[in-house]
Amino acid sequence: MSQLFSSVNTDHLAASTPEKWTIEDSEQTYQIEGWGDPYFSINRAGHITVSPQGDRGTSLDLYELVEALRKRNIGLPVLIRFPEILADRIERLYACFDRAISRYNYPGTYRGVFPIKCNQHRHLVEALVKHGKPHQLGLEVGSKPELMIALASLNPIQISKQEEEESLLICNGYKDREYIETALLSRRLGYQTILVVEQLEELQIIQEISSELGIKPVIGVRAKLSTKGTGRWGTSTGDRAKFGLTIWQILQAVETLKSYHQLDSLQLLHFHIGSQVSSISVIKEAIREAAQIYVELTAIGSNLNYLDVGGGLAVDYDGSKTNKNNASKNYNMQNYANDIVAEIKEACDQAEINVPTIVSESGRAIASHQGVLIFDVLGSNEPPLTPPPVIEAEEHLIIRNLWETYALINENNYQEPYHDAIQFKQEAISLFNFSYLSLQERARAEQLYWACCAKLFEIIKHQENINDELKEIANILTSIYYINLSVFQSAPDHWAIEQLFPIMPIHRLNEQPSKRGILADLTCDSDGKISQFINPKGQQPKDFLELHPLEKKQPYYLGMFLVGAYQEIMGNLHNLFGDTNVVHIQTHPKGYQIEQFVRGDTITEVLAQTQYSAEELLENLRRHTEQALERKLISLPESRRLLQNYERSLSNYTYLNQEP
Ligand SMILES: *Cc1c(COP(=O)(O)O)cnc(C)c1O
Repeated sequence: MSQLFSSVNTDHLAASTPEKWTIEDSEQTYQIEGWGDPYFSINRAGHITVSPQGDRGTSLDLYELVEALRKRNIGLPVLIRFPEILADRIERLYACFDRAISRYNYPGTYRGVFPIKCNQHRHLVEALVKHGKPHQLGLEVGSKPELMIALASLNPIQISKQEEEESLLICNGYKDREYIETALLSRRLGYQTILVVEQLEELQIIQEISSELGIKPVIGVRAKLSTKGTGRWGTSTGDRAKFGLTIWQILQAVETLKSYHQLDSLQLLHFHIGSQVSSISVIKEAIREAAQIYVELTAIGSNLNYLDVGGGLAVDYDGSKTNKNNASKNYNMQNYANDIVAEIKEACDQAEINVPTIVSESGRAIASHQGVLIFDVLGSNEPPLTPPPVIEAEEHLIIRNLWETYALINENNYQEPYHDAIQFKQEAISLFNFSYLSLQERARAEQLYWACCAKLFEIIKHQENINDELKEIANILTSIYYINLSVFQSAPDHWAIEQLFPIMPIHRLNEQPSKRGILADLTCDSDGKISQFINPKGQQPKDFLELHPLEKKQPYYLGMFLVGAYQEIMGNLHNLFGDTNVVHIQTHPKGYQIEQFVRGDTITEVLAQTQYSAEELLENLRRHTEQALERKLISLPESRRLLQNYERSLSNYTYLNQEP
């Protein structure tokens, strides 16, 4: 970190756009309406505001909230959850299915389940269960530990509008006897527990245990559709998919159940074509195929009455409303519900059978928006963009050449001088390597080269079609902003699968962001960076983010949005950066209240995960200091200070602490 709060003069960059920068300019630059509506917007002060209840209810100023948290000694990075956004997402999903059901006169109902793998954290699941209650939202689990959370967190019977309903509990994933037995017994508590068979062998175990317990199972089958998903999870379907049964195997399952005289247990047909499906046509095709399988299975005597369409409902991370890349989708929630309801209705009408209860397992679409990660910038690093003030006549020829090249660059003549600049810079390095150029001279040569690039960039930056070579210039001039965050812990999908999340400053949005930067995290891993950003035009990701110049002693806060699904649980301890602080914010008419505060990992806690005992470590260090004292390598006050620091650090946050 070479230049903390560097103060490079970039006045000449700002000077080319004399009009005053407005918040509307920021809205466009960061596409906040596209991905943030109706929860996130920009206020007149140039701060992001959060409206947790969407178009209704109170809004709060995110910047002021962060300042208030810091005053309460809640350090950055901090993950802020807004349970009201969660509630709003659930309501929207149900409202969309309600509208679709009445629009198509669908004679059945819709029931949602939340796939708990999306975010299993207790406070989130508690909020979800609470806000899901009016809709009798159920849970979907994929493992034994998840089943255990569900059984203890979800009420077995949910009452809504005076109607009692058994809570839907869908059990996916590979299962052993204990899993199956627990799931079957849970039916005695009142749950509508459905065992979705992933492998044919599970049928026999279910049969054995259910006859032993005398509890009739409700069974589902997961079909491997031939419809190809698209994007990152495209291989979740098709013959080589990891999960599900082929049509041949489903027919085997029917035969097996018949032989047990249990075909009436087969009540649910499930499919899941992968997450973040960005194209509505893929969804439509999958529903059509699944509905046809449903109809055919009914025709051969099964007692199906649920059609579970899985997850896949996408989130518009870049706000472009397109299916050009995985960061967006070309449909909205209503289109999704309409197509599902219409396709199922049509298939059932044609076959003259009863329509199923429609179940969906949306995780990403429910949980993403409620999570906002706030982190601060520690410093930045960038090449100097202005030339040295004077070049002496007796300077080395190569430096004078670069100086002349710099002077020559203008609107009508830049391609050739640019090539010259590159060549002179390379020559300067060769001269240095053969000791014809001093270190100071090399520094001046490089400074002149960067100045050439900066001058050129000003000329080309508004041009639409510039060639790749000139595009390189933008990269050369990009600043590196060091952020108080671990990408591996807080945005693992960005590292692992290049998932894009909207990132932007949460304040100073009425000021021009005159810098272009990439973000480098705290880890000592060159992968620990964010250098791909959403592109408002929905095309290829941008390789820089518009940022403000840092100001001395003023914090600069960035927000990463839509991070509520998958990121928390998949984060890892690379370099031993632990879980971040988490708060739950609940608004009320006059403001807001901090409902939950979960302190992030301390150093002692992450060390314990790697089998170190803080006490033993401290004891070892004490021994080392005693030895050093004996050999007079350290003074008594120094040794005391070292031990005090060590002991204090053990109970501190793993991230950096910048005094507010
Ligand atoms: C992961 C998963 C989901 C959730 O998918 P989203 O795209 O996040 O909605 C739903 N069902 C199953 C079976 C899953 O494995």
